[in-house]
Amino acid sequence: MILVVHTTTFESFIICGPDRPCNKKPEPLRTYFFSSGRRGDPAHNRLAGHVAVATGRRVASGQSNRRYRAVWRRSRPRLLFLGGKVESPAMKDLLRQLIQADSTPEKGELEAAQVTEAYFKKHGVQCEIDRWDDRRANVLGHVRSGGNRPALLFVCHLDVVSCGREPWNYPPFEAHETRSKVYGRGAVDMKGGIAAAVAAICESVAAGTKLQGDIIFAATAGEETDSTGIRRFMQDTSTLPKLGGIIIPEPTDLAVVTAHRGLLWLEIATTGKATHSSMPQRGVNAIMSMRRVLDALEHYQVAFEPHPLLGPCSVSVNTIQGGEAMNIVPDSCTIGIDIRTLPGQDLDAIRHDLESLLARLRTEVAHFNARITTVRAVGAMETDPECEFVQTFCQAVDVDLTNVVGFTTDAPHLAPLGAPIIIYGPGKPSLCHQVDEHIALADLERAVACFKNAIRHLLA
Ligand SMILES: [Zn+2]
Repeated sequence: MILVVHTTTFESFIICGPDRPCNKKPEPLRTYFFSSGRRGDPAHNRLAGHVAVATGRRVASGQSNRRYRAVWRRSRPRLLFLGGKVESPAMKDLLRQLIQADSTPEKGELEAAQVTEAYFKKHGVQCEIDRWDDRRANVLGHVRSGGNRPALLFVCHLDVVSCGREPWNYPPFEAHETRSKVYGRGAVDMKGGIAAAVAAICESVAAGTKLQGDIIFAATAGEETDSTGIRRFMQDTSTLPKLGGIIIPEPTDLAVVTAHRGLLWLEIATTGKATHSSMPQRGVNAIMSMRRVLDALEHYQVAFEPHPLLGPCSVSVNTIQGGEAMNIVPDSCTIGIDIRTLPGQDLDAIRHDLESLLARLRTEVAHFNARITTVRAVGAMETDPECEFVQTFCQAVDVDLTNVVGFTTDAPHLAPLGAPIIIYGPGKPSLCHQVDEHIALADLERAVACFKNAIRHLLA
């Protein structure tokens, strides 16, 4: 098999299979041929007939390249990657600046919003910051088309989680690059996704892609904590054009995700009566009351049919606080419960279930007193994988099967917009919120190429 390889940048290639000729005209000085026809050579079987976007070392004319790494999974794009350095300085710079703009809950999102705004403006894309105090901000970009196709909306989040207590090998806000990977808090979740989407939008504009529908970009605050930013964005959607679909570039390792579970965070607090612990019979021990709650929760199961792909609704007690001193009977104890819910599930019904459980304990346990508080509730999300938007997107990024993920996003807040939602972005979900979080530059390049393709398929 002979593959025609030509560069899009100095060390990146577009590879065209023999039965799907690339429509991009190769540059004569940068056109190379190489053979990968040996038996047992993964490229021989896997790449036949596929157009692939590749990044990596330049291949000398007539030589076979042994440094390739083919990625093949049904839910991922069929792309060939040639090992080596990636050249896309502008996007890499954007990612670096985004990581350096510490947007942990303590610092807020304003600086990261300003980095995004500056990049858009530099590339001639209309952009504005919606700021509501010294630290908090959303950033909104808009590419107007003048066409009459429904618009495409990208929704990201600017905030990142804190760095944790464990030491990092690479400082979390330096955006250190080594072996073609960039390290830093948010590299995966989700400043990598922001950089890829912003770069794809700007490159599409720069390439003069004739759009028949608008591109709208929103990066919001507080996704990891309270969803403040997305709520604020949804407060006034009257200026938004009709939407054909929404892409959330959260890290899915470039799998096309159409469903995730929701979450319900509840606190249960027991109260008792404090007294000197040399005479515990005079008090009511709130920790002992909580023991009864924990016993009941151990056997509690939410009555709801498991989802064929997402599995069952899960319940996990993750925090506990109680007691003041070694010699005082505690008068309060609080637990935090994380419940992951399924599409179609009624969150009020779960809370009602737990209220009944506490009511039963009140009748069974002397001096038992407890109450429930809802800390956070986000619905589940599910898009019909057969709908036209998902099908067109899958075609654009060359993915056969859609997928689901365990984590939750801001997607459910976007449901009132009535547009189908896809979660699709670079980076491994297993690296989210981890020490030494990092992303491969090759994955980012791949994401940019796929987003540009999606923009073309959906809007051009
Ligand atoms: Zn995220």
